[in-house]
Amino acid sequence: DISERVLARLPGLARTTGKAFIVTANGHGAWQMAVSNTLVPGDKVLALESGRFAIIWGENAEQAGAEVEVLPGSWHDPVDPNRLEARLRADTNQEIKAIFVSHTDTASSVRNDIVELRAAIDAAGHSAMLMVDCIASLACDPYEMDDWGVDVTIGASQKGMMCPPGVSFVWAGAKALVAFDRVKANGGPRVRYVDWERRLEPRGFYDTYAGTPPVSHLYALDVAFDMIEEEGGLEAVWQRHERLGRMVRSAVDAWQTADGLLLNIGSERHRSNAVTTVRTGRHDSQQVAAKVLELGEVTLGIGMAGEPNGSFRIGHMGHVNASMTLGVLGSIEAALHALEIRIGGSGLAAAATELARAQRDES
Ligand SMILES: *Cc1c(COP(=O)(O)O)cnc(C)c1O
Repeated sequence: DISERVLARLPGLARTTGKAFIVTANGHGAWQMAVSNTLVPGDKVLALESGRFAIIWGENAEQAGAEVEVLPGSWHDPVDPNRLEARLRADTNQEIKAIFVSHTDTASSVRNDIVELRAAIDAAGHSAMLMVDCIASLACDPYEMDDWGVDVTIGASQKGMMCPPGVSFVWAGAKALVAFDRVKANGGPRVRYVDWERRLEPRGFYDTYAGTPPVSHLYALDVAFDMIEEEGGLEAVWQRHERLGRMVRSAVDAWQTADGLLLNIGSERHRSNAVTTVRTGRHDSQQVAAKVLELGEVTLGIGMAGEPNGSFRIGHMGHVNASMTLGVLGSIEAALHALEIRIGGSGLAAAATELARAQRDES
């Protein structure tokens, strides 16, 4: 019963009427499922850089035999739709079969505009599948798979869905299922563990899960869906994340000085509401993180953008509320004082002000 309930609720999470698959593996397993069922060796893939994750997904495809090209981008900006359109226009034989992009890239904390990227693909008249990694953004930032014209969506249990790691998701639209027919017709080797054939018409749980179901994760996911419903549905959950994201960003803005702390992503509308990457200027981010751990007993995400000592990340995804967020921001502010790092003003005060303002505006 629980399995059927979770499977019935999954399409709504990505806002699709397409097919949802559960993979008994972390997010890498979902990447693998998407690649194995939609691409054949020799296919060309375009991975859009705006941080780290679309590129690692591309490496997975490369090991499966795809020919992967990275569309270079910046770690401080979203993917540029004009560059994507130009690259696709140059692909006159339509050799590119799939485009990989992260919705939110967890390293840079950018939130790409999927609607604009879809429009760029359409403007180029290109037939490549649009595949979006939403592991960090699902149940944090608004996402509409069908309305936005996405062909494959990737998710996982451990971020916005508040569960332990170990289970991930693939949502497949009509075009992806057609691509699977091409994979079957190709006659090459397939990976049974992630293969769609039995999963599409299961005669029992052994087909749905390629073996024993991840029972404990299914219990957890069922509760996660209940919690989302109790909060008022996905819209309410998105709104809480926006409030928390704004609090964090207003704190960093308040701390900012010419050679000190700075938000990694320049444009507000491309900043994630799940995670915030903070550049630390001439200061050592590892030293800041160590002091935050010592004073506040909270662990900051290590920097993944550029130099390892040049940034840290604040996670505000999933089971997080305003008090937790204020606690983290207060701990960071205390660490900045303890290390005698000059700040523009109180980030904690700015975050509290932002919380009050958001609550007033929402009501
Ligand atoms: C966390 C994350 C992944 C990797 O997930 P794993 O469960 O560690 O394999 C992939 N993409 C994004 C955007 C992520 O945030």
